[in-house]
Amino acid sequence: MKADSVDVVVVGGGGTGLMSAYAAARHGRSVLVLEKGEQLGGTTRLSVGTICASSTALQKKAGIDDDPDSHFRDMELFFGSLANRDNRELRRLLVDEIPETIAILTDLGIEFMGPLPEPPHQKPRLHAIIPHSRGFIVHLEKACKKLGVQFRLGTSAESLIIEDDRVTGVRAHVKGDKALHVFSARRGVIIASGDFSSADLAYKKKYMSGPLLDIAGVNPLSTGDGQRMGEAVGATVVNGDLAWGPEIRFKAPPHPSPIARLPVSRWFARCVNFAIRTVPQKIMRPFLLGFVTTFLAPSLKLFSEGAILINRNGQRFCNEFDRPQDSIGRQPQQEAFIVFDDAVAQKFSQWPYYVSTAPGVGYAYLEDYERSRDDIFHKADTLDGLASQLKVPVDAVKAAVAASNAERNNNPGAPAALTKGPYYALGPAISWIVFSEGGLKIDNQFRVLNQRNEPIEGLYAAGSAGQGGVLLEGHGHHLAWAFTSGRLAGRKAAIAAPING
Ligand SMILES: Cc1cc2nc3c(=O)[nH]c(=O)nc-3n(C[C@H](O)[C@H](O)[C@H](O)COP(=O)(O)OP(=O)(O)OC[C@H]3O[C@@H](n4cnc5c(N)ncnc54)[C@H](O)[C@@H]3O)c2cc1C
Repeated sequence: MKADSVDVVVVGGGGTGLMSAYAAARHGRSVLVLEKGEQLGGTTRLSVGTICASSTALQKKAGIDDDPDSHFRDMELFFGSLANRDNRELRRLLVDEIPETIAILTDLGIEFMGPLPEPPHQKPRLHAIIPHSRGFIVHLEKACKKLGVQFRLGTSAESLIIEDDRVTGVRAHVKGDKALHVFSARRGVIIASGDFSSADLAYKKKYMSGPLLDIAGVNPLSTGDGQRMGEAVGATVVNGDLAWGPEIRFKAPPHPSPIARLPVSRWFARCVNFAIRTVPQKIMRPFLLGFVTTFLAPSLKLFSEGAILINRNGQRFCNEFDRPQDSIGRQPQQEAFIVFDDAVAQKFSQWPYYVSTAPGVGYAYLEDYERSRDDIFHKADTLDGLASQLKVPVDAVKAAVAASNAERNNNPGAPAALTKGPYYALGPAISWIVFSEGGLKIDNQFRVLNQRNEPIEGLYAAGSAGQGGVLLEGHGHHLAWAFTSGRLAGRKAAIAAPING
């Protein structure tokens, strides 16, 4: 069989695409995954790696009596003013199917810890991958390859091919080749190309407004290609104005620690999981934080307790109490530093004053950052010393702190002035769109719908690209959707009648 003619073509090799490919190949179909990046993984690989699920083996082991009905209801507790924007049918499908998704991922060799609580969920439901999200990709890729799935990296899908009102394939740019390649799909094309947080301004403006337009997505490859390809054949995007962000996050570590490069085999992950349960936290923390390869989000509590923000020019640029995340995008290099004194630092060394949540340990404190993140942790006895570490103008930093202190001294309700050395800075911190929520409109068979709400034959979508209006608020629902929708879309495409079949 020629590589360019298969039963199912999957656009995108992130969590959704890999799970779709695996599911379709399990039905004995030939599957080709097109991935525009140089490696598989997409945003899934960058994620913290929590999945929210009920009725799993881990819940049962922990004696937690839970079910999809309660999960369905609890999801609403996160919606707030968005409640009427949700696709209830897809939410129902999601909660009913996640337990099987978790079981399949576990069978493939993926190890979870937890379940961890996340109020207002009434039961602990967060399943966190051990040791990190690369495990999803490694295990799924291995399983796909065993079933004969083919991968084309550096291959960017550009448009869908339509013949007799049916999608029959994809045109794509293959790296190093000027001509467009045609990849034909006898049974279906699955769009699994992620979100559009890093799309160009013109595309973003179609759906988004305000500070979201000033900032980029965490994953530069999340350019909404699937949404555009779908729209070009008559599909629509739902909830395009919604995004997770702007949100302040630290950059991922520039060089993953040697620990993060350790293998993610089932046995290794099991040993780590066992150690988490049995070895004292104090000993495990540095080890577990060594696995962190993701973009951690500093708690906004740092600001309510006294930290200020300065930009690369050493200037304070916003009221830190009033959505500082909206202003960072307009600063030089779209970056800022979180600056505070020893009084604040002392506070952020224990619960409930954590600097950020972090995979493996739950919450990371200042000491954890000092030990594990020397790329973004800065400390000096004086403001002069701190400014020179940050390579920002000393006078500007001193003026920023002095002005903030003067404001605070005149305002009895304000946090204490920053006067007690040593002084600290965390950063650069960047304001990102972590991901956008606008995905193609689909039905409960994962078929992409046109403007008349009719399925476009031969075309499926899943994951962020096929979010279909389901609200995934709280933690762990995006990966839950990625793997579950990918699995179901893969199965639907696999059992679809072939062209001329
Ligand atoms: C820092 C961070 C932490 C997160 N943590 C969590 C978490 O703990 N729990 C949770 O539930 N969610 C989390 N999320 C969200 C979650 O990771 C995503 O919603 C999910 O991974 C999306 O999966 P996907 O397969 O749809 O997209 P992706 O994983 O992005 O995969 C899409 C793939 O398609 C490729 N692609 C794009 N265009 C084309 C094209 N034209 N041709 C070929 N390939 C293309 C991309 O390169 C990419 O590899 C996090 C996100 C971020 C950024």
